[in-house]
Amino acid sequence: MTRMLIIGPPGSGKGTQAERISERLGVVAISTGDIFRANVKGETPLGVEAKKYMDNGDFVPDSVTNKMVRDRLNESDVENGFLLDGYPRTTAQVDYLDEILADGDEKLDVVLQLTADDEELVHRLLGRAKETGRSDDNEAVIRHRLDLYHEQTEAVVAKYADRGILTKVDGIGPIDEVTNRVMEAIKAAQAA
Ligand code: AMP
Repeated sequence: MTRMLIIGPPGSGKGTQAERISERLGVVAISTGDIFRANVKGETPLGVEAKKYMDNGDFVPDSVTNKMVRDRLNESDVENGFLLDGYPRTTAQVDYLDEILADGDEKLDVVLQLTADDEELVHRLLGRAKETGRSDDNEAVIRHRLDLYHEQTEAVVAKYADRGILTKVDGIGPIDEVTNRVMEAIKAAQAA
């Protein structure tokens, strides 16, 4: 049973690593970005609302995001643990997640932060934009998403560091190498 978070700036490869961790640890990976994108694609009311923010690189409001996460964490496939990718991104979301977990008498085991410098991230994301055509992957929006990460999400990381459950992994390098670092870091954190 593992309950963990993966946090990293846009382009740090957290989605890719989250899938691999999920396979290896047998826990479900839940990406708020993926849930939003699926809703945008399906043109659901949630998707229509989320799209207004996502296209500009802004955070979807907590009133929408928090409820979506609570509902998702109440589904039955989460019983054996979970890996949350992309949530929480603000300290208010940290407080909300604390409440959800406290309601279920649960706690987080590990918070993994993937690190990479901004210029490398911009370079990677501009490359991804060409491949996937994601509407939030143009340079101005990318820089705004990075700014939000520094302004808001680094405070999230600091909170978990204070709690002693943060482990940092260098996200630069070949994907397999980063996965090896990630799995080692999780093992070490769980043994501690
Ligand atoms: P991601 O795939 O994690 O980069 O997320 C893509 C976009 O979805 C973000 O730029 C936000 O617009 C939105 N999003 C994802 N997770 C959250 C969250 N926890 N809070 C607010 N907005 C989010």
